[in-house]
Amino acid sequence: MPIQILSPQLANQIAAGEVVERPASVVKELVENCLDADANTIDIEIEKGGHKRIYIRDNGKGIHHQELELALSRHATSKISKLDDLENICSLGFRGEALASISSVSRLTLTSKPASQQQAWQACAEGRDMQVTIQPSAHPDGTSIDVLDLFFNTPARRKFLRAEKTEFSHIDEVIRRIALSRFDVTINLKHNSKGVRKYPAIKDSQSQIKRIAAVCGHEFADKAIAINSEYEGIQLTGWLSPAGEGRGQNDLQYVYVNGRVMKDKLINHAIRQAYEGLIETNSHPAFVLFLTMDPMQVDVNVHPAKHEVRFHQARLVHDVIFRSVSKALSESFSEYAEDTA
Ligand code: ADP
Ligand code: MG
Repeated sequence: MPIQILSPQLANQIAAGEVVERPASVVKELVENCLDADANTIDIEIEKGGHKRIYIRDNGKGIHHQELELALSRHATSKISKLDDLENICSLGFRGEALASISSVSRLTLTSKPASQQQAWQACAEGRDMQVTIQPSAHPDGTSIDVLDLFFNTPARRKFLRAEKTEFSHIDEVIRRIALSRFDVTINLKHNSKGVRKYPAIKDSQSQIKRIAAVCGHEFADKAIAINSEYEGIQLTGWLSPAGEGRGQNDLQYVYVNGRVMKDKLINHAIRQAYEGLIETNSHPAFVLFLTMDPMQVDVNVHPAKHEVRFHQARLVHDVIFRSVSKALSESFSEYAEDTA
């Protein structure tokens, strides 16, 4: 075969392989877009575990009708414009790939109305043969995205979708993670027309524990110790289970780096080390931790799904977490020592 440039549709479908693994990854990308658009209310409606429909509506700043088609194009983003911006990212998105990828493997409708626009407009990318139709529509200020029949045109991918219940539980988990990252945003989740989660916005920091309880359960929230420390310009805040309170599973471990949810070996290692000797060997600590540091010190452009980061000063980050968690735990330790003596 001669060398040829891939059609935009095929290029998007290939990229979709990295960004859109399953319905939950669609939900993650779309909700992150709502947050980047400064929405404070996000409504999510799922049908059949996302196989059938993923509908997300926000009250954010909207997309101008002249930019609707562009928003669906690959490498189209309003979040960065030059290499320097990449060093200093404050938004959750920046790759300009999600909408293009999702629309290449679904039937997508994007409806939006910025407050400055009289009329809402709608872009339909049925099957995404790169033909987008734009028409006037009705919508309050903000944006809705309706994603139907995910992977309908990529049967090999569709085959990998799991049962409705399994896919929904992944979506639920994505929403839990996001709900923990943004206390100030109301998030509602419905499945098959039934309300499943309601996370009302938390207005003041004293009430944050309510969101923790709603997402992580009262068992964790009632006992959790708060952490709030800063070393070397790296701030660590959040809640963690006290000494002696290990869990059977490692299912309640959430770490955010500058508001972005992370799975990071280095961070987990530091936390684990701080708990050493304070919980039983086979049990796991529970924590919701927020690491805040100079964005220049973190590289988020490591993985297309953006759940990995690279720290420029990995050793320092490890030390700061270890010290902060150890200090918080030492305060709970004396009680633990008394109990087990
Ligand atoms: P990225 O988030 O990396 O910029 P996306 O493909 O997710 O790429 O989105 C493309 C662009 O569409 C965004 O940069 C943004 O300008 C616009 N956009 C997407 N979703 C929304 C939304 N819910 N509200 C406002 N603008 C949005
Ligand atoms: Mg995005």
